[in-house]
Amino acid sequence: MARQKMVAGNWKMNKNLDDGIALAKTLAKSDLPSGVEVVMCTPFIHLTSIAPLLKDIPNLNLGAQNCHQEESGAYTGEISAGMLASIEGLSYVVLGHSERRAFFGEDNALLAKKTDAALAAGLRPIFCCGEPLEVREAGNHVALVAAQITEGLFHLSAEDFAKVVIAYEPVWAIGTGVTASPQQAQDMHKEIRDLIVGKYGAEVADNTTILYGGSVKPNNAEELFGQPDVDGGLVGGASLQADDFLAIAGSY
Ligand code: PEP
Repeated sequence: MARQKMVAGNWKMNKNLDDGIALAKTLAKSDLPSGVEVVMCTPFIHLTSIAPLLKDIPNLNLGAQNCHQEESGAYTGEISAGMLASIEGLSYVVLGHSERRAFFGEDNALLAKKTDAALAAGLRPIFCCGEPLEVREAGNHVALVAAQITEGLFHLSAEDFAKVVIAYEPVWAIGTGVTASPQQAQDMHKEIRDLIVGKYGAEVADNTTILYGGSVKPNNAEELFGQPDVDGGLVGGASLQADDFLAIAGSY
């Protein structure tokens, strides 16, 4: 079984409701590449409006950008995984984005709980990992990413782990216009896949979708996605323009 190729857009905190619906409508009526799962990870408030637009489009899916680790309760302003899963057609939730780690203090232990909550609700986590520049410069990037994955995900059964998509996003490449070279991306993706082999075996590792994120643009996507262990991208800025996002999704 070939692993699933995927291009996911992370809209972050961008677009008011009307603009978000307009972008989703444009994508929904576009000629999407076959064999690639395209996902829009929108702000929470867009989800219930956009979900019905995607109903009959099998390879265009919807995701959220975060969820709370508890099922329900007195957590003012938060959204649970179960609430997200109650939106028909919502399949994914991004967890552990570097902005959540940096600005909201999310650590590996918390992300392990969020992962459990997402899976228990029937959602597929897109689990982000990646090193800041100073860690790469010190030569500790592989160890840091390995710790993020081990502590965040390796408590899962093989069956649950198989539902997780991993996104390697070097922090120094996110929103900076500086992209990891295809070789840098490939090297880290191979490290991640080898780590998974060690924990869950070659078959699970071979079927794990590992996305690259960090300034993916129409002019660099093809080379990045051409690497043997890069199975697609998590795209921030370029996912806000339909033409750019479609060009990236069509880069396989
Ligand atoms: C992201 O937000 O996950 C991301 C990779 O952003 P950008 O593509 O803008 O670097």
